[in-house]
Amino acid sequence: MKITKLTTYRLAPRWMFLKVETDEGVTGWGEPVIEGRARSVEAAVHELSEMIIGQDPARINDIWQTLYRGGFYRGGPILMSAISGIDQALWDIKGKVLGVPVYQLLGGLVRDKIKAYSWVGGDRPSDVISGIKKLKSIGFDTFKLNGCEEMGIIDNSRKVDEAVGVVAEIREAFGNSIEFGLDFHGRVDAPMAKVLIKELEPYRPLFIEEPVLAEQAEYYVRLAAQTHIPIAAGERMFSRFEFKRVLADGGLGIVQPDLSHAGGITECYKIAAMAESYDVAFAAHCPLGPIALASCLHIDFVARNAVLQEQSMGIHYNQGAELLDYVLNKEDFSMEDGHFYPPTKPGLGVEVNEELVIERSKHAPDWRNPVWRYPDGAVAEW
Ligand SMILES: [Mg+2]
Repeated sequence: MKITKLTTYRLAPRWMFLKVETDEGVTGWGEPVIEGRARSVEAAVHELSEMIIGQDPARINDIWQTLYRGGFYRGGPILMSAISGIDQALWDIKGKVLGVPVYQLLGGLVRDKIKAYSWVGGDRPSDVISGIKKLKSIGFDTFKLNGCEEMGIIDNSRKVDEAVGVVAEIREAFGNSIEFGLDFHGRVDAPMAKVLIKELEPYRPLFIEEPVLAEQAEYYVRLAAQTHIPIAAGERMFSRFEFKRVLADGGLGIVQPDLSHAGGITECYKIAAMAESYDVAFAAHCPLGPIALASCLHIDFVARNAVLQEQSMGIHYNQGAELLDYVLNKEDFSMEDGHFYPPTKPGLGVEVNEELVIERSKHAPDWRNPVWRYPDGAVAEW
């Protein structure tokens, strides 16, 4: 069997699907995208395609290594997201050829279901109480929300009170009947991260995510030394070589690689195993589409240290399409009591509504994250 063609479809809300075709008629789907830079990843996919057209899709390990090591310069969000989507599509093909779900090819189930959590609130964490009530009524008991709005390198006590106030309100309203992680979203610098974490501790968040940006990763170990709340990070780390450093430093309690950014199934399976060896939990980042989510689930069902799965149903980013809009077998991804169950169809288990994908890709929006500014006009992290 040989790979014959790669076709990309940029889609609302901010996704890109990749179809990989073979000379024997078996096709695989992947989701190579970095949010806000879909066109750059698309160019990278097509540039990389010359290395794999004509190759045997069964040799996923060799193709991964060729795509990664075959370029003198490698890594980073664009190239690794391109590799990720190609890798997902190759696993999809392999599963379809062999007639089994991908997790069977990775050794089989290690659990029967995986807990999912839901985002609540938008970019600015307000009105989370009614959001949680609604989501709780359909079975979720675990949530994530942004921990604060833009925060100055040194900011005032009013901003701290605002951030802590939201969280205090949640605990008061729901007690221990729910859990929630707080995503600082890289918005907070190290000095204020120290302050905020200390103030938030009494409300016992499940974890603090990206308390500082990944490029300040040396602070994860320092912040972890200050608090008993687990520190989570990883959505902006792009290979096991980046995770190696943070795992060796010892600050993280949870790693969150993104299956569409950190080298796909091949690489994230290894990252999960590396994390397990450091007694660190695995919670794949996934505010993306259904192929990315399915890829995450196949790792969740084989990695013992997988604890939680992010998913984008109802997420504030999903403007113009919802998680399962482009999926024909929606029932395979329905949740019960806030859990996902193992996909049963061969490959990744996503039957893509190709007709709809082609139609909608004709007018795909170019999603961009907002650029925030402080009151004094300087750029703030979003
Ligand atoms: Mg995050």
